Amino acid sequence: MYDYDLLVVGSANADLVIGVQRRPGAGETVLGTDLAVHPGGKGANQAVAAARLGARTALLARVGDDDHGRLLLDSQRAAGVDTSGVLAGGAPTGVALITVDPSGDNSIVVSPGANGRLTPEDVRAARDLVRSARVVSTQLEIPLETVAEVARNLGPGSRLVLNPSPPQPLPPEVLAACDPLIVNEHEARVILGDREAGERPEDWARALLATGPRSVVVTLGAEGALVASAAGEARVPSVRVRAVDTTGAGDAFAAALGWRLGTGASLTEAAAYAARVGAAAVTRPGAQVSYPTAAEVDAL
Ligand code: ADP
Repeated sequence: MYDYDLLVVGSANADLVIGVQRRPGAGETVLGTDLAVHPGGKGANQAVAAARLGARTALLARVGDDDHGRLLLDSQRAAGVDTSGVLAGGAPTGVALITVDPSGDNSIVVSPGANGRLTPEDVRAARDLVRSARVVSTQLEIPLETVAEVARNLGPGSRLVLNPSPPQPLPPEVLAACDPLIVNEHEARVILGDREAGERPEDWARALLATGPRSVVVTLGAEGALVASAAGEARVPSVRVRAVDTTGAGDAFAAALGWRLGTGASLTEAAAYAARVGAAAVTRPGAQVSYPTAAEVDAL
């Protein structure tokens, strides 16, 4: 018996957003709107997305002992995430400084802060938590060696889902543990590196499978997704919606996919559900606040 359907091991950031007429160049100062502060970070987003869908969810992350850390803990708890695995201290909470111009283009500076201090030792200390989850989902806004330690500490029947974002080359032991590896085109190309990548998502998926994961999911924005495993490949259609803001859609997709896989859904079924969750998330502005409940997904 597992205590959690999904454990997310990952980042928690405060997103500090200022609207500007024009993003500043070197040496330039511009005036902007009032500051908006939102809970974000891929790990925190995934945990909120899963909990809103009804998954029994826990988060293993590190925040600072500061107001941003408390904001993140509050948003996790409000969504129903178990935060007993969230560590505090060691560095300020991670922040993303975001300027957005009227066309929606943005410039972002990320200070990883406490996310960079989530260590392999922290994972070993939380081994019981890691082993109490049916599915463990992670990303790369925490150190790669921490992700590798997660892969080493999985319970016997549990499954690792990795969205390697922001992308970097992955060691074979991490690739081999992924079931699935979830990538968009850019992430696929970085992970494939010098290997022949081809032009079609089917090509990337096959090339990625050859690097070791048991399964691969390629997300294709408004085009949906492609799933691939030894059993073959399948396209998963997206749901036609009016997209308002795609921020955090990939995180909602990954969380929903991991949760559904844990309930026994096939990779294709889980991806089809996740595509509906991703589509619902783009119909509303923001990241965590845009995530649907299961009832909203069913109504889509
Ligand atoms: P990422 O942000 O990681 O690049 P995507 O933009 O591909 O991820 O979005 C993840 C998923 O969310 C997609 O696979 C799709 O299912 C859904 N999605 C994203 N954008 C749209 C859209 N405009 N319309 C419908 N679904 C979308």
